[in-house]
Amino acid sequence: MELLDGIGKLSGVGPKRVALLSQLGIVTLFDLLMYFPRAYIDQMTVTPFSRLSAGMEATVSGVVASVRERRSGPGGRLAVLTAYLSDGTGYLAMTWFNQPFLKKKLDAGRRIFATGRVDYAYGGHGGLAMTQMSAFEILEDGEGAPRGGMLPVYATKANLNQNFFRGLMAKAFSRKPELPEVIPEGVRKRYGLMGRDQAVAAMHFPKSSGEISSARARLAFEELYLIQCGLLLLKKRTREKEQGVRHLMSGGLVQKVEASLPFRLTGGQSKAWREIAADMEKPVPMRRLVQGDVGSGKTAVALLALVKTVENGYQGALMAPTEILARQHYETFSRLLQDTEVRIGLLSGKLTAKQHEEMLAAIAAHDVDIVVGTHALIQDKVVYDELGLVVTDEQHRFGIAQRAELNRRGAKTPDVLVMTATPIPRTMTLTVYGDLDVSRIEELPPGRKPVRTFARTEERRALIYAFAKKEIEAGRQAYVVCPLIEESEEMELPSAEAIYQELSGGVFRGIPCGLVHGKLKPKEKEAVMRSFYEGKTKLLVATTVIEVGVDVPNATVMVVEHAERFGLAQLHQLRGRIGRGKYQSYCILIGGGKEGMANERLRAMERTASGFDLAEADLRLRGPGQFFGSMQHGLGDLKVANVLRDTDILLRARRAAMETMEEARDMRYVIEVLRINYRDRFGNILDA
Ligand code: ADP
Ligand code: MG
Repeated sequence: MELLDGIGKLSGVGPKRVALLSQLGIVTLFDLLMYFPRAYIDQMTVTPFSRLSAGMEATVSGVVASVRERRSGPGGRLAVLTAYLSDGTGYLAMTWFNQPFLKKKLDAGRRIFATGRVDYAYGGHGGLAMTQMSAFEILEDGEGAPRGGMLPVYATKANLNQNFFRGLMAKAFSRKPELPEVIPEGVRKRYGLMGRDQAVAAMHFPKSSGEISSARARLAFEELYLIQCGLLLLKKRTREKEQGVRHLMSGGLVQKVEASLPFRLTGGQSKAWREIAADMEKPVPMRRLVQGDVGSGKTAVALLALVKTVENGYQGALMAPTEILARQHYETFSRLLQDTEVRIGLLSGKLTAKQHEEMLAAIAAHDVDIVVGTHALIQDKVVYDELGLVVTDEQHRFGIAQRAELNRRGAKTPDVLVMTATPIPRTMTLTVYGDLDVSRIEELPPGRKPVRTFARTEERRALIYAFAKKEIEAGRQAYVVCPLIEESEEMELPSAEAIYQELSGGVFRGIPCGLVHGKLKPKEKEAVMRSFYEGKTKLLVATTVIEVGVDVPNATVMVVEHAERFGLAQLHQLRGRIGRGKYQSYCILIGGGKEGMANERLRAMERTASGFDLAEADLRLRGPGQFFGSMQHGLGDLKVANVLRDTDILLRARRAAMETMEEARDMRYVIEVLRINYRDRFGNILDA
């Protein structure tokens, strides 16, 4: 078979299974080979029955001596099937519930091979039984000896069980061609990597746990190495473009705007701004990431960069992730630039067709200097007269492909500034933003009082809302955040709507309240948010639509209902909406009562203010993947590598990729590989 042949070609895979497998992303033979086990069961050591004791996890092997079937439970609804096995050293009962179909396979004399937990047999007078098998195999006639080794466990769907998968892999391997190598030979030798074909085979049919880790390491290296090569290539191609926009030294306009800011830049902001300005003054296009925790003041830095490009006769674009944020930035900028001649435009999805056309025309004619909008700003329809700088706030939709795309547009390649509050560990930054230079704003503006955070149970709700009311009466504003409730959920959780009704008609009667959630029409959402910005609405009940970037310094209270339903990253983003002004702010997390993990998270919020520390706490509490799970890092899924755990491999892969950039022959090899394997990601760099 060929690698790209459909799996329907394998015997035993009819249309039904083709459909089920495609739900797992398996369409071709290649997909199947790349469908790696999610775990392994160590069957290397088979424990004789005589050495078993209750409570042990063990792998055992024995021959069926007899089988008994009975019913139990209320109304005899539970079918209990017990096989008594012997292995020459003793006896062991093995029990299955509600799997009557197994009976016909359990003929006396059949050998069973199983891994699971050993317990005292029910009513067995001290005899032992295995009832929860994490894996078992009933060997076919003639398959005398147990297979032993490491047994792969696949992520499956109903109707596709482990044995089916294991059998399918065996068939696939008997018919597959050799997998082509994708890492240059020199690199493979230098880094001691096993061949690709061998590694894939070892993932599915490992002989030892050592072999699994070498195979995994090789495949993780492969993924990270190729992506690093792609990113470095992107960086190199960007650098080679001598026709970047060359900005001159910052002149009077930048100085005037900086002086007119209602505050002085913090040390961190100044440093980031100096680094940005220096990049902009070079003929090579800027590709810079600014990382700064929520509230660190990234907007002001972006403003100065945009003004600089305008002062040099170019246009600037600022992309926000949502309409609400785009409008907010538009208004902030309009206010801060009101004493200048700079013309700002908002390209909003809510413009009428006619207004939209007019805005596009104004942009093309250079009647607008700074355009603010969502990611639509860099789509083909928007034609700039001379685009000098693109800033993206909360990068989500601005992945590698978009960055590469900018290289291909217009006569000159614009500078790019990416701003993010996501506390990405260094290694992660390398994977996602390997083509960018990084500036960090590590401090918050002075005079900020750290938000005081309290985790409380529901019994305190009345007190909590009385407190929020007192703050509002003192002139402040407050948020109440409710979890998003899926309609399918049966749980008895009040919706944002219900909480709004309850609060606005109860404790907060007479106080202007607003409600905003994802189901509102953009216009309605807009009106509610506006009224809150303007200070007319005092209490805003919201779902997480307010998560990113909303800036109302007068808001000092945030109550989070059912805080246990939020992840730490999200809670941190939410909390970043308060503590933005000179007043002391309070974040009160109402936990749904249950003990455990969730409350651990809330405790971490009470103790910890920094996003980086919280990211680490979350890692400890929930393991990797969760914190970043919600982050769309634009890389697609890594199949094998785990950027949090495989730091060593990542750094080695990064080094290897840098070496490759210097080796013309290896580079040609890798470009070909990227062209074939990563076209969607890097296609537009490769074509350039
Ligand atoms: P973020 O980095 O989360 O985007 P913002 O740019 O929205 O943060 O800034 C948060 C708040 O801090 C805003 O109200 C802004 O006006 C204010 N701010 C920014 N820089 C300073 C500073 N140097 N001194 C005082 N306040 C500042
Ligand atoms: Mg921001």
